[in-house]
Order: sequence, then C-alpha cells, then structure tokens
Amino acid sequence: MLGLMQSHPLSISSLIEFAAGKHGDTEIVSRRVEGDVHRSNWATVAKRARKVANALGGEGLAFSDRVATLAWNGYRHLELYFGVSGVGQVLHTINPRLHPDQIAWIANHAEDRMVCFDLSFLPIIQAIHAKCPLVRKWVALCEAKALPTETGIPNLVSYEAWIEPAPDQFDWPSFDENSASSMCYTSGTTGNPKAALYSHRSTILHAYAAALPDVMNISARDAILPVVPMFHVNAWGIPYSAAATGAKLVFPGPALDGQSVYELIEGEGVTFAAGVPTVWQMLLGHMKPKGLKFSTLQRTVIGGSACPPAMMDTFMKDYGVTVLHAWGMTELSPLGTLGTLKFKHTRLSHEDQRHILLKQGRCIYGIDMKIVDDEGKSQPHDGKAFGNLMVKGPWVVRDYYKADGPSPLVDGWFPTGDVATIDPDGYMQITDRSKDVIKSGGEWISSIDIENIAMAHEAVAMAACVGMPHPKWDERPIVVVVTKPGATVTREALLAFYEGKIAKWQVPDDVVFVETIPLGATGKMLKTKLREQLHGYRLPGL
Ligand code: AMP
Repeated sequence: MLGLMQSHPLSISSLIEFAAGKHGDTEIVSRRVEGDVHRSNWATVAKRARKVANALGGEGLAFSDRVATLAWNGYRHLELYFGVSGVGQVLHTINPRLHPDQIAWIANHAEDRMVCFDLSFLPIIQAIHAKCPLVRKWVALCEAKALPTETGIPNLVSYEAWIEPAPDQFDWPSFDENSASSMCYTSGTTGNPKAALYSHRSTILHAYAAALPDVMNISARDAILPVVPMFHVNAWGIPYSAAATGAKLVFPGPALDGQSVYELIEGEGVTFAAGVPTVWQMLLGHMKPKGLKFSTLQRTVIGGSACPPAMMDTFMKDYGVTVLHAWGMTELSPLGTLGTLKFKHTRLSHEDQRHILLKQGRCIYGIDMKIVDDEGKSQPHDGKAFGNLMVKGPWVVRDYYKADGPSPLVDGWFPTGDVATIDPDGYMQITDRSKDVIKSGGEWISSIDIENIAMAHEAVAMAACVGMPHPKWDERPIVVVVTKPGATVTREALLAFYEGKIAKWQVPDDVVFVETIPLGATGKMLKTKLREQLHGYRLPGL
C-alpha cells in the first residue's frame, strides 16, 4: 500500500520561491569585486534568478547543459545558483585558483556551454577562451559600462546587459528530482580532476540536514557569512540552507583578509560564519593585536582541514564563540559529520567537552559511516582502532561525472581516503590521510603533479612530494629528490622549473636532496617512512 501524501519533486527552484515569498525583505549583502558593499534581498534575488532563467531560455541550451561560474561569493553568483539549476541546466562552479590550463581542461571535460565570471578573472578567460570551443557565450558579472573593450574574447556580454531585457516572471519547470543540478571538480589523487555531480534531490536533502540544530543550526534569525567559497562544494551548501530557512546572507567577495572579514561581521550583525582554518587564522591575527571583540558572532563552523586546538580555544574562551568542527568532502555535498555535544556531555568539565569537540564530529542523519582495514574488514568503534573511513548516504556520490573506470564504491560504500577512529558515542576523528594529496589553505595540491614535474627535470632520478605542517596554511608541499648519478640541480633551479606548469601557490616550498627514498615491496614510495626520515625538518622561514 502506498502512502496517500502528495508527491512533489524536490527542486532548487522551490527554495528560491520559498525564500522570496516568505522572507522577501531579508537582506543579501555582498562586498563586490568593485570594492563597494551591495545590498539586495531574497525577493530581488528571486526576480533576477527568474531573469537568468528567461535569458538562458534564449541561448538554445539543452536540458542538463552545463553553465559554469568562475566567481567569488556574491549576489550575482547566488542568482546563478538558483536561475541555472532552477531552469534545468547544471551549474558548474569552477575554482579560479587553479592554473588556467587546468581550468580549460575542466571546462572542456564538463562541456560547459557558457561561462559566467567575475571581472577580476578576465585574464584567465583571455588565456583560455580559445581553448574552449564548446563555450558559446562568456558572461562578465558586471554592468555593461564596466565591460572592457578590446578583450579579444568573442561572444562576451556583461551579465547586467544579458539579463536586462529578460522578464522577471518565470514558471519554473518541474522535472525528476534526481536530475543533475550542479557540479564541482575535486583534485584527483591520480590523474585528472574528477567531478561530483549533485542532483536536486541530494541538494535539498543536504539543505535540510545542514540546517538542523546539531548541524549548522541555521534559522531565520541568522546572518550568515560564508567565507568558504561558492566555487568549493557550493559554499558547504549554505546558500541553499539559507534560502530554506530565510537567513540573511553576507558575502565577502574577494576580500578575505582579516580586516575586511571583521568589518563585515560587525557591520552586518553576522551571527554565524563558515570557513577553513586559514581564513580564521587571518581574522584572529587581525583582531588580537587590536583588542577587537565580536558583538554578534555566536558560532563558526570550521572544516575542510582539522581545526587547530588553539584556534578552538581562542574562539571559545577569548571571544565566547562556539566552534563547530565539521568534516566533509566534495563527494559528500560536502557535510558528513559535525561536532556537537550530546545531552549526557553537557555536565562534563570544559576540558572533557573540548576533547570531544576537537574530534571531527558525529554523523549527520542521512550519512552512515564505518572504518575498515586494508582487507575491508570493519573495525570496532572504540575510539582506538583506526581504519579507512567509508561513507554512504543520499548526498554521497555513487560515481564521478564521465568516469571511465569502475565506480569508486566498495559494496555501496564510498572510500573517503581519510583514515579515522570512531568512538562508542559515534564521534569520528581523522588520524591520517591515505590519499596522496596535500591540503594547503583549504585547497588541494596533487603530490603526483609535483612529483611528475620534478621527474621531468633532466637531473632528477626520483622525486617524492610530502606535506609539511604550516601554522597558516595547515600544510605546505616540499619535494624530496634523488638526483641522477653525476647530475646536479640546485634547489632554486628546481623550484624555478615549476614556474608556469602549475599555479604559483602549488609550487613546493622547498627541495630536500636525499641519497635514497624508501620503497615498499611493490616499488611504491613509502611516504610514511619518508615522513619519519624527515622528522625534525622545518619549512624555510618557520
Ligand atoms: P574537499 O573535497 O576539497 O572538500 O576535501 C575533503 C577532504 O578534506 C577530506 O577527505 C579530508 O581529507 C579533508 N578534511 C575536510 N574536513 C576536515 C577536517 N575537519 N579535519 C581534517 N581533514 C578534513
């Protein structure tokens, strides 16, 4: 017997219409690339999202065609979030911090038909447009009068000119809730980047879950500052949860320095902010010497990399701000776990509570997780045994977009590449990473890319890239090199060899020359051994 309840497909367009209808005057505030602070609200975002939908209708795109963005957090990006997905196209958010060649590769792999970009990224577009033959239109997120002439880019329009003639009324189409809504590439541990392809259903379920009190506790009484970029896993889903709850949104644009972020928090009455540890490092670094305090900020979600204990202490003790430690992945839309206490913990001492909260948190309803050994055998949840962390749930990928190999799932579980413990209360703690990547300031650097470039140098016989702890960036890469017999290369020459091949921030901080690199039985480099060998090593300048 089927239930007798109405069946409505879950859709991103329903979010924006809800926000517009029930919270129309709630503000959306953005620091723009132009430097000024712009004020909009949910009603206006909805109107302009409908204009986007109408304008897209004139572009001859097919259902599920990809429309890319290369943009900071701001109101125009938000309008595209709802307009593009709402009409049935796929919003492809691209990370502008990548090397232009990687961006072109990603745009071609996704088969993007249109690319919408902030003017600050014009040089990237100038470098890649000729390499992206499938892109029919380039849309600069600016006024018509701000659009530079003589850019050399064909089919370039300003966003405002593009949507200006389009009506602000639109009947959103209804379609299967499993249709693709947005996509985000993540750095491949081997080979090229891979894309998570989210659906309307997965996005809405994640939006509900993210707003729960034990998750981000998002409500209509919040003013939220997502410092986490909208090009990285949809700013952790915050734009959708904010629309579902009618929260105010405050966007930092490109200004992520401590002073700019602090001014926005205070000026806009921000109650909740989200970002990677590096961003908070910059904020606290700005506030401490000046003796500044928060007047409205209540909580911050810190994730993407482990939250340093000292950072949690500073937020909690010095500023009275609750820290929510979150763990997630691009492949998980991204939220998997979040650190909040249970009732039985509320009477524990601060020290005991801190111990719990520093873990990566417990499963959000919808996500299931387990740890397994290398043979796939489940390990106990005793807080001591560690294993490869596996997850499943309705907002976890089952495959990558256009993947040519087998599905990454193992018996229905997605292997995260993280190594973790899970305690009897369900709190997960990351202890290591089995994937060969380095995370610096919340962004991935592929060890393999770094090694391949070094190996292409005529003097290098073997190269291993490892991440070293860094107080600001969490990790920075170094490359450990064995030179060919009789050949020499200096540290400076090898570092110069990386120039132009990868983005500047991905270039290793140092080169360490060694006689040998430890190898395992199968000839694979043993990075764990190598890290032991490097014990006591300090990055230059620290
Ligand atoms: P991304 O797909 O870029 O969001 O990166 C996901 C990966 O970042 C995870 O698999 C972890 O390796 C790492 N990560 C995310 N959150 C945390 C955290 N709270 N603590 C430690 N590592 C984290």
